[in-house]
Amino acid sequence: MGKPSKWKCYTCRVEMEKVLDISVKFRKFNLPKAEGLRCPQCGVQYLESDYVAEQVSPAEEILSGK
Ligand SMILES: [Zn+2]
Repeated sequence: MGKPSKWKCYTCRVEMEKVLDISVKFRKFNLPKAEGLRCPQCGVQYLESDYVAEQVSPAEEILSGK
């Protein structure tokens, strides 16, 4: 199994940039900046964890109150 090296924006089909300042919003909470991916063209942002199906975002885990 090789790991994917490059992510592409679904809309623009350009390579996403890896950034460390994704602004995270969960419901009405503003969470600390996170590592993720941003499309240089349309500016859409994804958390890295969004791509990793088996990994639950730690922030969401905390805020869901479990
Ligand atoms: Zn895009």
